[in-house]
Amino acid sequence: MFGYAGEILRVDLTRGAIEEQETPEKYARAFLGARGLGAALLYRELKPGVDPLSPDNVLIFITGPATGTPLPACPRWEATTKSPLTNMYLCCSVGGFFGAELRFAGYDGIIVRGKAESPTWLSILDGKAELHDAGEFWGLTTEETEVAVRKELKDKRARVASIGQAGENLVRFANIQTDSRSIGRGGAGAVMGSKQLKAIAARGHGGIEVADEEGLMTLMRELIAEMKRNQAVQEFSKFGTTQFIDPVNEGGLFPTRNFQAGVFEGTARINAETMREQLVKKDTACYACPIACGKYSVVAEGEYANTFVEGP
Ligand code: SF4
Repeated sequence: MFGYAGEILRVDLTRGAIEEQETPEKYARAFLGARGLGAALLYRELKPGVDPLSPDNVLIFITGPATGTPLPACPRWEATTKSPLTNMYLCCSVGGFFGAELRFAGYDGIIVRGKAESPTWLSILDGKAELHDAGEFWGLTTEETEVAVRKELKDKRARVASIGQAGENLVRFANIQTDSRSIGRGGAGAVMGSKQLKAIAARGHGGIEVADEEGLMTLMRELIAEMKRNQAVQEFSKFGTTQFIDPVNEGGLFPTRNFQAGVFEGTARINAETMREQLVKKDTACYACPIACGKYSVVAEGEYANTFVEGP
């Protein structure tokens, strides 16, 4: 099937077993994209009434047909599960490089179920998947985990999705982090923690076979040209998601003091212009994305001097 790596990994942490299944063409075509395919798989895999933090919950990492292709702004992938926060369907989209790397390693997705006996991490390297002891990683932050996993693999270019202490301790809104970006709502990190799965690393050297390579490259060039002409895209490129701070605050929807209020009196100190002028040190991009909406920001002075943050 063009546009797909063709395989999905099935990981049963209770049994310590890893199997492969063909990416189901029927679902991939009927429910196009990572979100559609993820929802279709979850619907099929998850039994009704499952406790989201029990071994029976299923955590799916899934990509779409454009992930890992040169199409701009298309490296995105999804985590799909039953949310421990809402007890309902959860889908979370994220950028970075992990989704593309997973496909280069030969897989369109990973279906994780069960619970490991002890902290575990999963490596997926060019068609070979293995479970490893993560005892020494447990308790590390996600940044520390990325460094530790890459060191273990002796590969600085491995891409890692991991949880920190919030996920380990089953905080119901815990994130999964990857490339300084967050699978950031509904508590997918707690589901990963409930399975004692600390991290997944992917590294591959394959590619994605497409039906019309020339057509894809033409489309890529057209999209990039359109992005350069488009004022909204240029603004997004310059400011990232901070451009939404003022309009969201004006609309009374800016989450303030744990959403006790929807308006924050101090947005002038953190809005798009202030961040760009005073804090942003460099723009960062996801795989093959010319928009580079990510911002690496550092506080230069004062009480919070040297605090840094990277995100969209
Ligand atoms: S850099 Fe920004 S616009 Fe580009 S894929 Fe990543 S999140 Fe999307």
